[in-house]
Amino acid sequence: MDRQLGTLLVVEDYDDVRTVLRLLLQCDHYRVLEAATGRQALNILKTESPDLIIMDLGLPELDGFETMRRIRKNEAFQDTPIIVLTAYTGPFHYQAALRAGGNYIMGKPVDFEELEELIHNILAGSITTHRGSQLGTTDATPPLHSHSPSQVAKHSLVNH
Ligand code: CA
Repeated sequence: MDRQLGTLLVVEDYDDVRTVLRLLLQCDHYRVLEAATGRQALNILKTESPDLIIMDLGLPELDGFETMRRIRKNEAFQDTPIIVLTAYTGPFHYQAALRAGGNYIMGKPVDFEELEELIHNILAGSITTHRGSQLGTTDATPPLHSHSPSQVAKHSLVNH
């Protein structure tokens, strides 16, 4: 436990996927919090401050979009990186996810290696929500929240 690299919150209603993610990320020395619903995620955030959130969109009751909107309403989590996992493709869907508060989009089925790399890069600071959105680049780009979400979406589309 002394080698923990950070705390991640995984929000995913599908037990198998959530469990695989947890095991994988624990192997990578992250502390992993799990939520099966949006409400569970919001409850966890009352007492925990994860370094990064992995968010499924298709969730019962409170979907991922609404969950992210509520998370972003809390000032404490305005800058917490959120990686959105979604089976839906298409620019409209990606834009909606970014508008709701997501920073990065990954298609399902999840490419675990790519996800691990993305998490690592975000937490290592080589990618932040205030800098370049493309993997491996260090070029300064406008902050995601002010008008560069299309870049992330394009990047995700290319990699899908
Ligand atoms: Ca789901």
